[in-house]
Amino acid sequence: MAITSSCLPMKLIFATGNAHKLEEVQAVIPSAFSVLSLKDLEFEYDIPETGDTLEDNALIKARFIHQKYGDNVFAEDTGLEITALDGLPGVITARYAGPQRDHNNNMAKVLHELSSHEDRSAQFRAVIALIYENTEYLFEGILTGTMSVIKKGDQGFGYDPIFIPTGYDKTAAELGPAVKNQISHRVRALAKMVAFLNDLK
Ligand code: IMP
Repeated sequence: MAITSSCLPMKLIFATGNAHKLEEVQAVIPSAFSVLSLKDLEFEYDIPETGDTLEDNALIKARFIHQKYGDNVFAEDTGLEITALDGLPGVITARYAGPQRDHNNNMAKVLHELSSHEDRSAQFRAVIALIYENTEYLFEGILTGTMSVIKKGDQGFGYDPIFIPTGYDKTAAELGPAVKNQISHRVRALAKMVAFLNDLK
């Protein structure tokens, strides 16, 4: 997905401590935007994600950083929503198998829970909360797909080794960043935010 912009650089803080997410955003955001990470700000505290929805959690992170620094900021929260599991793990995607947030345990739990289901359809849903000029906005990006039967691939992060995006026959961890940066839920939400900010100028 191409995200274009012709504006002067606009400074935005991306409120994430996740290096993979930062890499993905920095790879696709136009040079008209200068994205600072929490690492750049030497902010190391893990902001508690206590919301009941992805929207709540994205807003919690964006508000926390906005209150501390006062700058324009965006934060993102993603959930894996599996049809046969009634939308789980959803907002608890990172902690599905426990508070350790272990990707391998999380994936093992999903594969186990799905073993008795035929329907393996799922989607990643990313919500970006933007606080721009003291006003809050939300943007959503969705990547549909199916959950694989076994783990495959060693690129990407999180649930990528067991998620096969629609239109592909490989997991996101096999497809790698060149493909993922074109189609990911996060990139789709980001494209909406960039279009919105460009329209404001
Ligand atoms: P959070 O948005 O950082 O709370 O992440 C929620 C969970 O979704 C974590 O377990 C992440 O590893 C996982 N996750 C987020 N984005 C992706 C992705 O693009 N691929 C695979 N897993 C992801």
